[in-house]
Amino acid sequence: MFLIAGVQPKTRRVGEYPQRCPACGLIRAYTTRVDHYLSLFFIPLFRVKQGNPFLLCEGCRRPVDEPQDSPQKKPAAGASRTCVACKRPVDESFKYCPHCGQRTK
Ligand SMILES: [Zn+2]
Ligand SMILES: [Zn+2]
Repeated sequence: MFLIAGVQPKTRRVGEYPQRCPACGLIRAYTTRVDHYLSLFFIPLFRVKQGNPFLLCEGCRRPVDEPQDSPQKKPAAGASRTCVACKRPVDESFKYCPHCGQRTK
């Protein structure tokens, strides 16, 4: 038996204020969520699965990598960071590493 029913993803914008997209530079990255709806005859009836919010750029139609999701581990020692070049601890307020001159991010 054939029923035109199924679970369809539905993209919802959940954030009100856009953020800057690092890929295209436009401030068009909205917090977006993809929910899955059970739909019948292409009409969403009810939500079966709520997705996790993520940033989606409406300029380039791509998800934006959020900085806090970066796989780089932060050094355990408080506010100080580690120089990417010489791996020595650098105070967070320094723009350049005092040991080797490497620019900190
Ligand atoms: Zn973009
Ligand atoms: Zn350094």
